[in-house]
Amino acid sequence: MTPRPMTALNPFHTRNGVLHAESVALSDIATDFGTPCWVYSRQALEEALDDFQQELAGLDALVCYAVKANSNLAVLDVLARRGAGFDIVSAGELKRVLAAGADPQRIVFSGVGKTAAEMELALNTMELALNTGILCFNVESAPELERLNAVAGKLGKRAPISLRVNPDVDAGTHPYISTGLKENKFGVAYDEARALYRQAAALAHLEVSGIDCHIGSQLLDAAPFAEALDKLLVLVDQLAGDGIELQHIDLGGGLGIRYSDADVPTSVHAYLQPLLAKLKGRPLRILLEPGRRLVGNAGVLLTRVEYLKPGEVKNFAIVDAAMNDLSRPALYGSWHDIVPVAARAGDAAKWEIVGPICESGDFLGHGRELTLAEGDLLAILSAGAYGMVMSSNYNTRPRAAEVMVDGREAHLVRRRESAEELYALEQRLP
Ligand SMILES: *Cc1c(COP(=O)(O)O)cnc(C)c1O
Repeated sequence: MTPRPMTALNPFHTRNGVLHAESVALSDIATDFGTPCWVYSRQALEEALDDFQQELAGLDALVCYAVKANSNLAVLDVLARRGAGFDIVSAGELKRVLAAGADPQRIVFSGVGKTAAEMELALNTMELALNTGILCFNVESAPELERLNAVAGKLGKRAPISLRVNPDVDAGTHPYISTGLKENKFGVAYDEARALYRQAAALAHLEVSGIDCHIGSQLLDAAPFAEALDKLLVLVDQLAGDGIELQHIDLGGGLGIRYSDADVPTSVHAYLQPLLAKLKGRPLRILLEPGRRLVGNAGVLLTRVEYLKPGEVKNFAIVDAAMNDLSRPALYGSWHDIVPVAARAGDAAKWEIVGPICESGDFLGHGRELTLAEGDLLAILSAGAYGMVMSSNYNTRPRAAEVMVDGREAHLVRRRESAEELYALEQRLP
């Protein structure tokens, strides 16, 4: 990786009164590609990955981007070209990363519900790639170990595995995105992990390779990561005593980003240094699975105000993006900053920023102080992660276009769907 030269400008910045992505005005993108539209910055993606790579320089380490955060092929390609591997959770994501040119040896497979067919596909990926294979299956239960062993045996292969251990630490994040507590469905219980490793080591078609954990998402504080690592390292030493030497440790993802001024996320440096200090001198390859941190602040959702409906109790600004595009506000009550692409003069009012969908939960922001007129463009910030990937076709709304800006160029990286495509797979009764 060649370090990117220090750039003076934030990838998203205002120039001549207009919000830009790199050197392209978002107003031009709206004109050329329409709204609603997702806009990603290649520079922002690369800088976010570089933050990790720089801390890991000289170490045997691999950043496996959690594909589920944003799986557009162009995003995967940009990150792969800069040295990222991938953390996948489905056959679909496996096909995607391979389509983006990923090296199977840089793919780890997570998830609580891997089907036999998905396991087979991942094991067969080995042959396509000159017998190298995916790097690791992150196994989340005892029955999954048994199933993977059976599937690998049937194919005459050995599957590399790690156990996703649930360290039972409280990540202090939203209950829907906290994953490292005993009550969560993820991972194997800490107290059961040692016995399960012995069971795995005895299975003929598995190769015990590592250990992993993932304790939650949007963590702003580094302390829970260190707490989880301490618990994992106790287990690593116990396993060594049992004759099970692990090759790698996968610390998962979960590092948070800034959504509003209320969020002060820890730097990648402050997150990684304590972890790397604990790992120093251990012959363990280090894997990380960041998702949101790599893509969240690298994307915005561009939308246009269709109608203003001032009212006695609330003022509604009805925009052309909706909860089917960005579901996080409706789903988790998440905050996204919403800013005008070109600020206009005049008195600000408090607006409910809502979409056209027939649900009261269809909002993108509550009570935002803005000066608005019909036809204005708004940018919903920090929308690069868990945005497009969680969008739906509710109300038969075609998914929005995705555009990636690279310097002075804006590239269409997924065209807008058409309504006809949405019902093309359906048919009437004979
Ligand atoms: C979702 C997920 C990640 C990425 O989480 P972020 O909070 O986006 O960093 C990493 N690993 C696993 C197993 C996940 O499920």
